[in-house]
Amino acid sequence: MRSEEPRAVRLADYRAPDFLIDTVHLDVNLAGPETLVVSRLRLRPNPAGRAGVPLVLDGDALRLSGTPLLDGAELDAASYAATPTAFTLHEPPADAFELTLTTKLDPAANTQLMGLYRSGSAYCTQCEAEGFRRITYFLDRPDVLSVYTVRIEADRAEAPVLLANGNPVESGDLDGNRHFAVWHDPFPKPCYLFALVGGDLAVIKDDFRTASGRHVDLAIYVEHGKEERAAYAMDALKRSMRWDEQAFGREYDLDVFNIVAVSDFNMGAMENKGLNVFNDKYVLASSETATDADYAGIESVIAHEYFHNWTGNRITCRDWFQLCLKEGLTVFRDQEFTQDMRSRPVERISDVRGLRSVQFPEDAGPFAHPVRPDTYREINNFYTATVYEKGAEVIRMLKTLIGVDAFRRGMDLYFARHDGEAATIEQFIACFAEASGHDLKQFLLWYSQAGTPEVIVTEHWDASSGTYALDIRQHIPATPGQTDKKPMVIPLAFGLLGSDGNDVDLGSDGRVKREGLIVLTSGEHRFEFRGLKERPVPSLNRNFSSPIQLKIDLSDNDLLFAARHDGDQFNCWQAMQSAMTRLLVTSAKEIREGGKPLGEPRIAEAIASVLNANDRDDAFAAQFSILPTETDLTREIGTNVDPDAIYAARRGLKEAISAQIQPSLLACYSGLADQGSYTPDAKSAGRRSLRGVALDLLVVGGGDEAIALAERQYADATNMTDRMSALASLSQVDHPVRERAFSDFAERFANEPLVLDKWFALQAAIPERGTLDRVRGLMNHPAFSMGNPNRIRSLVGGFASGNPTQFNRPDGAGYEFLADVVLELDPKNPQVAARLLGAFRSWKTLENGRRALAEQALRRINAVSPLSADVSDLVTRALA
Ligand code: ZN
Repeated sequence: MRSEEPRAVRLADYRAPDFLIDTVHLDVNLAGPETLVVSRLRLRPNPAGRAGVPLVLDGDALRLSGTPLLDGAELDAASYAATPTAFTLHEPPADAFELTLTTKLDPAANTQLMGLYRSGSAYCTQCEAEGFRRITYFLDRPDVLSVYTVRIEADRAEAPVLLANGNPVESGDLDGNRHFAVWHDPFPKPCYLFALVGGDLAVIKDDFRTASGRHVDLAIYVEHGKEERAAYAMDALKRSMRWDEQAFGREYDLDVFNIVAVSDFNMGAMENKGLNVFNDKYVLASSETATDADYAGIESVIAHEYFHNWTGNRITCRDWFQLCLKEGLTVFRDQEFTQDMRSRPVERISDVRGLRSVQFPEDAGPFAHPVRPDTYREINNFYTATVYEKGAEVIRMLKTLIGVDAFRRGMDLYFARHDGEAATIEQFIACFAEASGHDLKQFLLWYSQAGTPEVIVTEHWDASSGTYALDIRQHIPATPGQTDKKPMVIPLAFGLLGSDGNDVDLGSDGRVKREGLIVLTSGEHRFEFRGLKERPVPSLNRNFSSPIQLKIDLSDNDLLFAARHDGDQFNCWQAMQSAMTRLLVTSAKEIREGGKPLGEPRIAEAIASVLNANDRDDAFAAQFSILPTETDLTREIGTNVDPDAIYAARRGLKEAISAQIQPSLLACYSGLADQGSYTPDAKSAGRRSLRGVALDLLVVGGGDEAIALAERQYADATNMTDRMSALASLSQVDHPVRERAFSDFAERFANEPLVLDKWFALQAAIPERGTLDRVRGLMNHPAFSMGNPNRIRSLVGGFASGNPTQFNRPDGAGYEFLADVVLELDPKNPQVAARLLGAFRSWKTLENGRRALAEQALRRINAVSPLSADVSDLVTRALA
């Protein structure tokens, strides 16, 4: 806990370390509150650092035990100083030396879940970003790379499984029912990639032969009795390993690859070298307990962490400002993997949905920051959608700009040139500039300028000359600390639709770089297309080629035409979203002025025609029929937002659609009946998702028949996806069936914490006045625990981020509730407490009444002392 304001760290102040650590020998004796870590470091002055300075190692809440040794001899008390946050050796030797330090830890008391802690009965670690300094004193920065040898000792019964990074070297029994294992990782790594696990765990094993013939033993460790639920994760792992060889030429490099699933974990998972530690939510799945979305989440997180082996581990980050170097790139890689495993357009739509619902609001509010921030006070607060998801979009644009082949050459060059190093964004981009011959200087602005660029397009059609022109202007809104922005490089994939629905031949405009690609580089451009017979309908930013807000005023006719005919499936979906968004924004406005929600027969017709199509793609049809979210509409409206009006508009449109196309919905629904045996593949998942969308529209339409349908689907479900989609539909209607289904669910899954998370989240999202009390009540449910991040995220996060009308209650009670939880949690787990504050990312756009109440809750948090660095940083930024 820090009571004073955390100091800002700045990219501009980067300095090479004064010392390097070549090897680390850790001897970890797992023994409850008497756990000891002996760390033997081979250090030497860094030729690139300052000479003759003291050695200062980082610590966080550490206790030194015994007397430190320098080259084997005890140090005298005057030559060093040890505090909980630092170990200082006043006059270190001028040449290489060995320092031995012992720290004493109590893993069970570590409620922050950073460093060495206990999850259930197992010992495990989480070191990224700065957790290693909670284990032992160290140069805890990613540009200090060392070779680790780790010896773990523990009680044989308590911890029969002992794992660390790298390859196993030795193991054996010791006196007193104890045993040990030694692990060696030959690849130099920063300490944030260190991991160890000790516990009584079950395992499933498999193996893999790499392209060049290396044999790798694979293992996934889980709680006893959950072995079968790890099978899909293992399958996803093997597919990831093969894909990285094929798509990027990257092979695995150790003899073993281990994954451990734990139930108490602050984030999703962690890519520690050879020993990935996972939130069990991203490992465990069975058809009865996991939805299709859970399976997809497992596939992508398994892939993500595996892909880090090259993008993050073999090449790491010089400093934490470069976080996107590994995260944006690795998200890009896992998205590409998922697109190859599933359907390209559908996955693209779902990634963009995610980007718009989290990253765009972040970029438009007080927490906005560049993909590569240039200052931070708490690095844990920068594991954001901007660094991850916008970071991935930047890589995608790079590929679009330079083309597939040059992109691959650039990646190859990056791997060849920087393997074993801690690199920067400039070094990464230089590889692509070299491989492609492009000047990427302006492109680097994507890393330094925050805010979602707006691209404003106006059309001009001159029938007499057959000339069609697009005036395109870019504008990047001001963000905290950045008021004037420079124009960026924006690749716009595009086409012009003729009245037959096909792309017209583009007349010649010299600035159309490649077939179907316009590249914006300055504030304003005009593109002219000559020799056209009719005004085309423009299809811009196809496949979401740039992460921008496109503003173009197309008529409903144009949008609905594009929704049916655009050759780019992403833009079919986009056109439909744009049509619905415009209607909903108008509708919300009218509702605030006392009017009724608007419907639009042509929107319902468009949905019906997709549902009724002979060659229907179920997954696409589902995406096509889902309305823009309340968050999308909040961002679109931008100021003076009334969440109740948005909800009413959206609900009203759903009701209108339901009423108008009920026969199509029913036919679609009954044509998609459960086929019995469950497989998680994309095609059957698409089928179930469309079934869920149809049911949801039917239920919103009201009527006892639809409710009975949902009740039946709930009861008869043979898999969790169908059961959950029925329960989710029912959760939206205030009807006795809902409560019956909720209590049945609680009974059925009473011993399944991950399943109850779904139950918590659904109830937290009920858009009714009684929900806050319900959430308060659920916090006393025996399955809820303030010690478990998944439970908190489901119930409290589900309410704060998943229930716009009730979190934003006009009386401010939602804000006060969140403030109470954040303040209660902060002393125990500041990282998770800070995450919850993300719910305030758009508070400044609210109408005056709510805005004042949100501010009041934020000020109440801010007035408390001490606050963690995590919470204090966010609350200060929220109020700035
Ligand atoms: Zn990652």
